[in-house]
Amino acid sequence: MRLGLLALVAACSAHRVQHVDIAIIGGGPCGLATALALRRVSCLRDASIAVFERDHLEPKGAAIVMRPMGIDALDAIDRRLVPEMRHRAARMFGMAHLTAEELSSKGADGGLPAGFRHPFRKRPIRERFVKWLARIGCRLRLRRSGLRSFNWHDVRSVLAKRVLTTCGPETMRLGHTLKAVRTARKGVDLTFGVELADGEDQHTVTYRARLVCSADGVRSMTRRCWPGADTKTATPDGRSTWYGLAPRLRLGDRLARVVSHNDCRLTVFPACGGRGVSFAASAASVPGHAASPSEAAERLLSSAPRELRPTLAPLLDATPHVVETKLMSRDFARPWASPSHRLCFLGDAAHPMRPTFGYGTSLALEDAAVLARIAEREGSLDSFIASGVRAFERARLGRVRAVVEISHQAAIRRALSCLTRRWRGAAPATSTGAAAAAAAAGTGVCGASEPPSSPPRSRANAAAAEEPLVRASASDDDGLG
Ligand SMILES: Cc1cc2nc3c(=O)[nH]c(=O)nc-3n(C[C@H](O)[C@H](O)[C@H](O)COP(=O)(O)OP(=O)(O)OC[C@H]3O[C@@H](n4cnc5c(N)ncnc54)[C@H](O)[C@@H]3O)c2cc1C
Repeated sequence: MRLGLLALVAACSAHRVQHVDIAIIGGGPCGLATALALRRVSCLRDASIAVFERDHLEPKGAAIVMRPMGIDALDAIDRRLVPEMRHRAARMFGMAHLTAEELSSKGADGGLPAGFRHPFRKRPIRERFVKWLARIGCRLRLRRSGLRSFNWHDVRSVLAKRVLTTCGPETMRLGHTLKAVRTARKGVDLTFGVELADGEDQHTVTYRARLVCSADGVRSMTRRCWPGADTKTATPDGRSTWYGLAPRLRLGDRLARVVSHNDCRLTVFPACGGRGVSFAASAASVPGHAASPSEAAERLLSSAPRELRPTLAPLLDATPHVVETKLMSRDFARPWASPSHRLCFLGDAAHPMRPTFGYGTSLALEDAAVLARIAEREGSLDSFIASGVRAFERARLGRVRAVVEISHQAAIRRALSCLTRRWRGAAPATSTGAAAAAAAAGTGVCGASEPPSSPPRSRANAAAAEEPLVRASASDDDGLG
């Protein structure tokens, strides 16, 4: 009897249309940051904002390197976010280029491959100097160098916690997977499949939204469902990538290790607040998809060159969840504007890119901050809905395009430099300090770049990408120090 009643309630709710002013699809870093940023806009105080996320915020993903511009964007959105994330960051001071043999040669005790442990004992000179001064009683406060890696899940949890406290629990609609979109004259009907955390109750629900912010990632369902939307804006880069977190492995220092062999590249770098490592490997595209994390690990092992397998095996053993995906990039020959003034693409849904320089999340966070700034300028919800999306697209095109192109060029330069290095039979290089840290950032999760020693081909692009757009913190440091 009780079950029957429940089923009846579920069936009724399936057909009831609920209303929301701004629907954000996707509760990743971009969607959550957008909710936080819009909630702070004075003219949107009374607007109803909801974030629809398909999962229940369980841990997933690996570690990402965040650029200073991403930290600035976070700071502009909410000043409490950066201090909150600081504790979860792992610092990195550089990258070490190793040969496959060096990285995989067994340690004396037969434990982890030596390359993972202490090939480079030296800390950056500046850090050692400051430590030495502290020992003799002289405390210096220098601007911190190096970059930080964050677990993607940590970034999301900090943002989700802030959304819950500042926007209210009703803002988060977890377990809601977008299934269908229907445009109407006064809004957009979004149909979600709902699955509660215990997996018991499954039903569908429809929301009518006045404005839709699509932040549902590279394979945006909003894009695929929206009538007339261009579904070919993201083009495959012809590479497969695998990534994961090994929470029990430790690097003996704070350097990223990069090893390239033939067309395969592996990067291992500190993660989990320095108590674990994250890795990413990329290789020429492997047909098909992995059905499970273990299959992803097997596919990586079988497509990696023989020389890299002794290195990969212990890594994969220590990684509970290996993810496989294909790299995609934004094709700027396709239309940039969304098909409707009620639809705004943000983050990876708008501009997927090669993770060569680790710009993806930073650009996504900047999108959120810029959208909120435009909403503030519009002065009212109606005016924001009428012209905000187009203003946002105009504001973002130049910068996003510059960053995507830089990442692409860097990937090409990196491939060329790998070839030259092999051709010349050059010894592996180790680099520490700021330049190398910048290079380490360039690895992205999938480990990709050479130190940006040579200027990018287009100087205009470089300038557009580095120009501070959202500047909240006073220093040009990454603000976490
Ligand atoms: C191998 C690799 C390495 C990378 N390395 C870096 C790096 O070092 N630094 C960096 O800054 N960036 C890096 N990136 C990119 C970075 O991960 C993305 O740019 C960033 O996560 C984009 O955030 P987002 O919120 O736009 O999208 P996502 O992080 O993809 O989040 C999308 C969210 O939408 C949800 N969703 C999807 N479909 C639906 C649906 N139908 N209904 C409801 N919800 C849905 C998903 O569950 C997810 O929570 C890397 C990417 C890859 C693949």
